Amino acid sequence: MAVSQTLAMAQKSRELTAKGLDIISLSIGEPDFNTPDYIKEAAKKAIDENYSTYPPVPGYRDLLEAISEKFRKENRLIYTTDQIIVSAGAKHSLINVILSIVNPGDEVIIPAPYWVSYYDQVILAGGKPVIISASLENDFKITPEQLESAITKKTRLIMFNSPSNPTGMVYSRDEMEKLAGVIEKHEGVFIMSDEIYEHIIFEGEHISMASFASIYDRVITVNGVSKGYAMTGWRIGYIGAPVWIAKACNKLQGQFTSGVCSIAQRAALAALKGTNESQVIMRDAFLRRRNLICGLLKDVKGLKFRIPQGAFYVMPDITYYLGKSDGENRINTSDDLALYLLDKAQVATVGGDGFGAPECIRISYATSDELLVKAVKRITEALSCLK
Ligand code: PMP
Ligand code: GLU
Repeated sequence: MAVSQTLAMAQKSRELTAKGLDIISLSIGEPDFNTPDYIKEAAKKAIDENYSTYPPVPGYRDLLEAISEKFRKENRLIYTTDQIIVSAGAKHSLINVILSIVNPGDEVIIPAPYWVSYYDQVILAGGKPVIISASLENDFKITPEQLESAITKKTRLIMFNSPSNPTGMVYSRDEMEKLAGVIEKHEGVFIMSDEIYEHIIFEGEHISMASFASIYDRVITVNGVSKGYAMTGWRIGYIGAPVWIAKACNKLQGQFTSGVCSIAQRAALAALKGTNESQVIMRDAFLRRRNLICGLLKDVKGLKFRIPQGAFYVMPDITYYLGKSDGENRINTSDDLALYLLDKAQVATVGGDGFGAPECIRISYATSDELLVKAVKRITEALSCLK
C-alpha cells in the first residue's frame, strides 16, 4: 500500500512553511472555512453534558435518525437506522465497506482519474484494482461500454464518485442511469457511491446512485460532514447500505475503533439538523473561485483542462511540459512537475500519478481569491522556464 499522495504533499508544504518559506498550498482538498458557529456550540454543549463515555458502535440513535432523514429529504433514499453506520470520516466508511465485501483476489473497478485512497484501500483488502480510464476528451467520465467490458466474473465492487475528486466532474442523470443499467445485469456486483461533494455543485444536479431502484440493494452510499459543513477535522462520515453490509461494518468497527468520538457525533447531529445557509455561502465562494482560477489557467501556455462542475478541484493536463527542463530539472512525470512547482514557484499541487492520471496535476482551489491569483502567477513564471 502506498502513502496517500494528497497527505504527503500537504505534509511537505507544512514542513516548508514551518521553515519560513512562503508556500501557497493548493494540495490538500479541504474547505478553508471555519466550522459554522451553531455546530461548534453543539459540541461545547455536549462536553458540558458529559458525552464522555463510549458511544454505541454504529453511532448515536438520534444521529442515525437524522442521517436517515437527510437521505430521505435530500436524496429521496430510504435507509432505516439499521442500514446506517457512522464512522471516523468518509475515508473510514470506505475502508469498512471494502474490508467487509472484498475478498482477496476480487476485482474492484476504479474509474480513473480516481481519488487516491480508493486504489490503496482496495490493495489493503487484498483486492485487485481494475482501472478504466476516462479521458479529458470524454470529460473524465467513463462510458457504459467501458464499464461493461471491464466487468468479469471476479468483479465484486465498482467505485463511483460524483461530483468527482480530482476532476470536479458531475455525472448527469442520463449518464448514471446508463451505468446503473449495466450494473443491473451483473448480479453480485456492488457499487460504492461516494457522494461527499454533493453540496458543492455548480452545474447540473446531484443524483444518488441508490435512487435507481433496480440496483438499490447493491449500492453503498457514502457521505459525511467534512466537505459540506467545513468539518474535515471532526472526522465524521457515514454509509447507507444493505443491512448485511451495515452489520459487517459495525462488527469491524467494533473491533477497530469502538465507534466514533462522542463530541464529534453531537456536532454532526447539529450540522445535519441545521439550515443549509452556510453550505450555500461556501458553495457560492467555491463557484466564484472556480471561475477565477479557470479564467486564469486558460491563459497559461500548454495547459488543457475541463471546467469543473462541482467539488473544488481542477485537473489540468500537463503533457506539454513532459520531457522539458529548466536546465537543472527534467520533468519526466506529473509528480516531477508538482515537485518542480513546489520548489520553483512555492506552490503545492498534487501530481496526477496517485490519481491514476499521470498526464495531469490536481489543483485544489479551496483558498482565497488573492492566493489563487498569486499562485497562478507563480505557476506561469515557473512553467515559462521549462524548455
Ligand atoms: N471521498 C472523497 C472523494 C474525498 O475527496 C474525501 C476527502 N479526502 C473523502 C472521501 C474522505 O472524507 P473524510 O474527510 O470524511 O474522511
Ligand atoms: N479530500 C482531500 C484531498 O483529496 C483530503 C486528503 C485526504 O484525505 O487524502 O486532498
